[in-house]
Amino acid sequence: MPPVFRFAPSPNGFLHLGHAYSALLNFDCARAAAGRLLLRIEDIDTARCRPEFEGAIFEDLAWLGLAWETPVRRQSEHLGEYRDVIEKLAAQGLIYPSFESRAEIAKLVAERDAIRPWPRDPDGAPIYPGAARSLSPKTRERLIRSGTPYALRLDMAKACSRTGELGWIEHGSGPDGQTGRVGARPDAWGDIVLARKETPTSYHLSVVIDDALQGVTEVVRGSDLFWSTSVHRLLQALLELPQPRYRHHRLILDGSGHKLSKSTGSTGLRELRAKGVTPREVRSLVGLP
Ligand code: GLU
Repeated sequence: MPPVFRFAPSPNGFLHLGHAYSALLNFDCARAAAGRLLLRIEDIDTARCRPEFEGAIFEDLAWLGLAWETPVRRQSEHLGEYRDVIEKLAAQGLIYPSFESRAEIAKLVAERDAIRPWPRDPDGAPIYPGAARSLSPKTRERLIRSGTPYALRLDMAKACSRTGELGWIEHGSGPDGQTGRVGARPDAWGDIVLARKETPTSYHLSVVIDDALQGVTEVVRGSDLFWSTSVHRLLQALLELPQPRYRHHRLILDGSGHKLSKSTGSTGLRELRAKGVTPREVRSLVGLP
């Protein structure tokens, strides 16, 4: 079976040089390995994703010289599949609803921080400080029935105790140069949100389900997602899904050493194209042969 690679952008902005590097690297790896390349549109965040950004993704990738298999999987068209998996995890007693608003969570964190620094997840966000895990079934039911918005969270301690220790072989490198065997640390993320009342999935859940459903064997993506792999390994173990090979790559940084942002400015592929930069020059800008 040929290896299966994927490039999985979110249509919440225009592509920049960082995306170009990731897409071209996946394309080159797939070609070198006589593998397949899939494109997946990760558009579950309906507040930020727009059809015009999706159209621009196709256009910019084609301009770069990329070819991918069709049909393209669009996550927003598969919400029912994600909902089914959430039910599977709920049936294992691993999911609970939490009802605090963002403002209430921020207040709880500030109160904790005033005593001693409250732990942050690998992305720097405070881990969930609330106590919704211990609400009684009756209270939960009452709050849900009253229409209070809620998030469905993974009971991380319970989930980790089910799977035992996990890890992966890193074929690229992490933000601190980690490579080879890496121990997963899903607990560092706390009780993550896997779905919300209005969106029955989350980045972590849909990426894991889709990689498995699409038969992805090679995950080549930026090192900013390195520690997300801990959560992905945990979900794969809980759902008995196969484990792809992981290769995290360096990030393309701007002149002052920061990660490129969605407001692409001078690094946007459309801006570069308008200035007469060629796809070949984009390759050399990101350090690819
Ligand atoms: N959709 C994610 C992003 O645009 C990438 C997901 C992944 O490669 O796992 O950052």
